[in-house]
Amino acid sequence: MKLIPIDKLRYDRELSIWDVLDVIGSIIRDRSVRVCIEVDESYVIKRGLEIYWALRRIGASKAPVGFSECYATLDDIGFYDNITGDTHRVYSSSLDFALRGLPTPLVKLRSYSDGKVNVWAKLEWYNPFSLSIKDRPAVNIVSSIASSRREGIIGDASSANFGIALTAVALQFNIKTRVYLPRRAEEFGLVVPSLMGADVIHTDAELTVDIISRVKSEAVELGFIHVDQFTNDLNFEAHLKTLAKEIDYQALKANLKLVGIAGSIGTSGHMSALNFYFKNRYGNEFKIILAQPARGEHIPGIRRSETGMIWLAMIARGYEIFDVTLGEAIDAVKRVASKDGLLIGPSGGATLVALEKYISKSSIEGDIVAIIPDTGYKYLRLLKEKL
Ligand code: PLP
Repeated sequence: MKLIPIDKLRYDRELSIWDVLDVIGSIIRDRSVRVCIEVDESYVIKRGLEIYWALRRIGASKAPVGFSECYATLDDIGFYDNITGDTHRVYSSSLDFALRGLPTPLVKLRSYSDGKVNVWAKLEWYNPFSLSIKDRPAVNIVSSIASSRREGIIGDASSANFGIALTAVALQFNIKTRVYLPRRAEEFGLVVPSLMGADVIHTDAELTVDIISRVKSEAVELGFIHVDQFTNDLNFEAHLKTLAKEIDYQALKANLKLVGIAGSIGTSGHMSALNFYFKNRYGNEFKIILAQPARGEHIPGIRRSETGMIWLAMIARGYEIFDVTLGEAIDAVKRVASKDGLLIGPSGGATLVALEKYISKSSIEGDIVAIIPDTGYKYLRLLKEKL
């Protein structure tokens, strides 16, 4: 068996993430690869296309190549290489920074830890473009488009953060963006993509998903690519190969006893990916705790599960979901601000409320990660209103 840089291998057919999800699951469970990829003298894959695409889609840097049985550990295949960054933090461009500036920090919160349960905040505002978790899908989606074209226009509906991330990544490839926002979008969602050169369309829609059909038809009319973060599997894949792996790696290095992850849902891209990854990693007893806005409540960036989320419906089994009001979410923002001196965004606050609701009805003990999608500095108007 030889370990070959994955970019050297050539294929005649692309497999989707759904074609190889079981293989990805077994790599995460076994923490190894046990099947060889067979190639000819020009590195064209003859057998093992499923392993190849599983390794590509999970972001491994090397592939085990040979004719007989193989055994390669996660270290052998460079499983964590794409998320272990550069200690000097010197980058050749802003895109390079977004790609190699990982992992984002994992910080223990005094405000929510009591020794029995330790709550670790994954601070996603440390992504450089949108100061949010949405840089991850934007980088994955735009890189895929840019591999076949270096100009043109792409567009999508966004609650605020994804439009910024999409525009920031697209401009690196001379690709223009059209960003459609709902009525209640926060001001930063309108101003920042405009500053970056996007065409921003402020609609009167209640929810971001309500804009999708308009974007679809205008994409045909005006001739742009609708990237559709709500159904684009590269969104789910981005979180599987970066966010999930980072948490796994950080827990390993810090000797954490991970028993659960809490988060909030918009497209459900990040929480579905975490659910899939950690159920495979630790088994079905691993807890996934979700926050959704209580009926009639608006919390920026998130929505209720029954409004339809493809990945949550397809793969996310065994999660607990809690309703959270905006008032409760902002109380959690205040609690973290006043005990830890960190200003988290309202969806991060909602996540902590859902987590506390779960803890109060269970006997869970150990380390729990709370995903904090963005920073509270974007929501000062909203925070001030509720002070
Ligand atoms: N929180 C904020 C602030 C967001 O902007 C979003 C998505 O736009 C989410 C949470 C939900 O993330 P996801 O779309 O991965 O479910």
